[in-house]
Amino acid sequence: MTTTHKSLYEDVQVQFNKAADLMNMNKGIRNILSQTANEIVVHFPVKMDDGQIKMFTGYRVQHNNILGPYKGGLRYHPSVDLDDAKALATWMTWKTAIAGLPYGGAKGGIQFDPTKCSDGELERITRRFTFALGNNIGPEYDIPAPDVNTGPQTMAWILDTYLSTRSQGERNNSLHVVTGKPLNSGGTLGRDRATGYGVVTTIAEWARDHKLDLAKATYIVQGFGNVGSWSAYFMKQKGAKLLAVEDVSGIIYSEKGIDPEELITFAKNNHGKISHYPNVVAISHKEFLSLKADVFIPAALSNQITLETAPLLNVKLVAEGANGPTTPEADLILQERGIGLIPDVLCNSAGVIGSYFEWLQNKRSEYWEMEEVIEKIKKKVIEAYANVSKTAKAHKTDLRTAAYIVALTRLEKAYIERGIFP
Ligand code: GLU
Repeated sequence: MTTTHKSLYEDVQVQFNKAADLMNMNKGIRNILSQTANEIVVHFPVKMDDGQIKMFTGYRVQHNNILGPYKGGLRYHPSVDLDDAKALATWMTWKTAIAGLPYGGAKGGIQFDPTKCSDGELERITRRFTFALGNNIGPEYDIPAPDVNTGPQTMAWILDTYLSTRSQGERNNSLHVVTGKPLNSGGTLGRDRATGYGVVTTIAEWARDHKLDLAKATYIVQGFGNVGSWSAYFMKQKGAKLLAVEDVSGIIYSEKGIDPEELITFAKNNHGKISHYPNVVAISHKEFLSLKADVFIPAALSNQITLETAPLLNVKLVAEGANGPTTPEADLILQERGIGLIPDVLCNSAGVIGSYFEWLQNKRSEYWEMEEVIEKIKKKVIEAYANVSKTAKAHKTDLRTAAYIVALTRLEKAYIERGIFP
């Protein structure tokens, strides 16, 4: 079977139109939100370790900022392109609105494979990209954060490059130009685990509503980076059993269950990869997707649950740790098959919620305790889940469409209050 899938941004439009129709959204505001505001593409040179000069292409798409500064991650991956960045930026606008944060939406990254680069090359690529972005980012304007293949170290390089290009007086009040920083450089306790913590918090809310006992539940995870590994860590605390994990290096399965903490330690010493983990069985991608389990947490890239793969799933719930793992066609198949789904814009929103608390601490020159940060994240995620779930019931629709309605209603209100300049 061939896929009918065209572009990620078209997928966003399908989701958007469904919700906008259902809520009978104001036509003019619908037009505004169906477009991105700014699409920045930069080409920049970097000297590689072998002395050669290589050109790179970086993107930053800013979708909307009516509710506050543009906010969203930067990813390093060969799949990064303008279409991807537009889709991911738009999802950030919905995500921050659903969480009730004073932010808009943006996303970007560089199209390359970071696993083929040395640390020195990664640093030079990151710094030169930051320099090329110039005033297109800023602590009260557009605030990047980690995403696929970027992390606290990447943010430290961006921070340092950004501060180095500011005037002396501006430097100490610009710490919040990026979030997801290392602790010593203005990062917050809890940001590392925030997304996984939120994924599991939404799963627990869904489980309570659907009478699924997580202490007896089984689950599978795709991707074992920041989101996948921390989700597994918190699923263990709920007593759930991890049956299988898939990452770029392979797929591991154990009927008895895989201990997430042991796997995390193993992966740390194995360049982040899960391959060669002992006492497990290797299975195929098709076998992985067909496994009988209660929950599937896709926590890798987009377009994983498609027309071809949705019929294979044998789970009760898909919890989207990744952004855009399910295509609109697959959404319909899951609904027909009675498989629940917590949409990305709600499920993984604790990442940007954690970022918001880091940003606030930087603005106030404060450092909060881990428990305080986690408690605040929990409150926001539970509120967002309750709002979306209530909206789904009121509109008799799925959680993704309901999440969109929550976001679009907030944005529509802001536009109606302010009007359009001039
Ligand atoms: N990259 C994460 C996301 O997709 C976090 C964004 C942020 O913290 O700004 O939500």
